[in-house]
Amino acid sequence: MALIVHKYGGTSMGSVERIRNVAKRVAKWHKAGHRLVVVLSAMAGETNRLLSLVQKISEQPNPRELDMITSTGEQVSVGLLSIALQEEGIDAASYAGWQVAIKTDSAFTKARINEINDKRVLTDLNAGKVVVIAGFQGVDPDGYITTLGRGGSDTSAVAIAAAMRADECLIYTDVDGVYVTDPRVVEKARRLDQITFEEMLEMASLGSKVLQIRSVECAGKYRVKTRVLSSLIDPMIPLDEEMCSGTLITFEENEKMEQAVISGIAFQRDEARIAVINVPDKIDIAYQILGPIAEANIDVDMINQNSGIEGKTDLAFTVNRGDYKHAMNILSYHSKEYINAQRVLGNPQVSKVSLVGVGMRSHVGVASKMFHTLSEEGINIQMISTSEIKISVLIDERFIECAVRALYKEFDLEKT
Ligand code: ADP
Ligand code: ASP
Ligand code: MG
Repeated sequence: MALIVHKYGGTSMGSVERIRNVAKRVAKWHKAGHRLVVVLSAMAGETNRLLSLVQKISEQPNPRELDMITSTGEQVSVGLLSIALQEEGIDAASYAGWQVAIKTDSAFTKARINEINDKRVLTDLNAGKVVVIAGFQGVDPDGYITTLGRGGSDTSAVAIAAAMRADECLIYTDVDGVYVTDPRVVEKARRLDQITFEEMLEMASLGSKVLQIRSVECAGKYRVKTRVLSSLIDPMIPLDEEMCSGTLITFEENEKMEQAVISGIAFQRDEARIAVINVPDKIDIAYQILGPIAEANIDVDMINQNSGIEGKTDLAFTVNRGDYKHAMNILSYHSKEYINAQRVLGNPQVSKVSLVGVGMRSHVGVASKMFHTLSEEGINIQMISTSEIKISVLIDERFIECAVRALYKEFDLEKT
């Protein structure tokens, strides 16, 4: 009798019919003798709908109120699923994050989980109930509702699995696992049976939204056995078949791992590039430019500084497109007042494409092959960044899908 955490995303909960199927699947696991905690997202489109209501009233809403609003989608989901489970003859109880309690810090809209009290959940499980918990939300030390950032239900599920030492965390979604690249862009992309934790972390941080990055960090920190699988297949398929479907995140490379140099292609569409031109080439110039950006809590991703010529240099960096206007406003002010820059150039229409693979550690020539492939497609590279197991390039957003498809083909990724 294992303790299993299931997580169902927005599409999986997207209609009454799908909710009934989730209930059937959960009931099947419960009837097989397992103890089940189910973590849910809001129904598909609901969080966006709530955010658009807010946008109609304010361009810069108070984040505390924002969390009060966006957390409601998940609350509807847990109530609906509990009722659907009861219709299946299963005793189920639903909880909002604060009722569990899932305790977070007070960083509204991007809170971090500090502690999970599983007492109430255990009492229900011991009484034979299925426990259904609202994902994406928690409660801060002052009792205010917080949310964990977009896609945060993945993190809720893995964190609950870690706190309760669950045997497995199953992330059910609208694709049947983790693919070499987003199957919406490369239709025939190959699904991976396993992916190392390190690679999954890179893929998530480089834009593959199949798992929220914090959920992968949490799985790694607490060694949570995590599997990504489909909620859209027949809920009544035999349990042993379901238990080995999808993609397993592994913590050690083993002989079953595919020996590929590249495991995946990730991409992030909504990037923006800012270049500060002709600034004095002096010791603290990077700090002078990026310090005010950090103070405004804006994440900087790629950074590139030219080697100085005649005492002058250029520094370029990227931010998420949502932070672009704010970052440009800060720099326009600072470039005149303090930095003494000739110009600040901005381009909010760029995207990042990345190759990921632990095999890159022992292979040379991956970068040059990537650059050649892109040049053959007539795609100009605006910035480059690398780590031991990834290469990322910044390109015009219009070419992102073309770049992903060309790289998929050139690196022979349909082959196992
Ligand atoms: P959920 O609502 O279940 O949380 P998401 O939309 O957040 O689902 O994540 C699933 C989506 O992630 C898929 O529909 C797919 O388009 C996208 N995706 C991006 N990269 C990948 C990848 N490498 N493998 C699988 N899916 C991916
Ligand atoms: N409903 C939230 C979102 O749309 C959380 C999630 O789906 O994981 O971002
Ligand atoms: Mg998601």
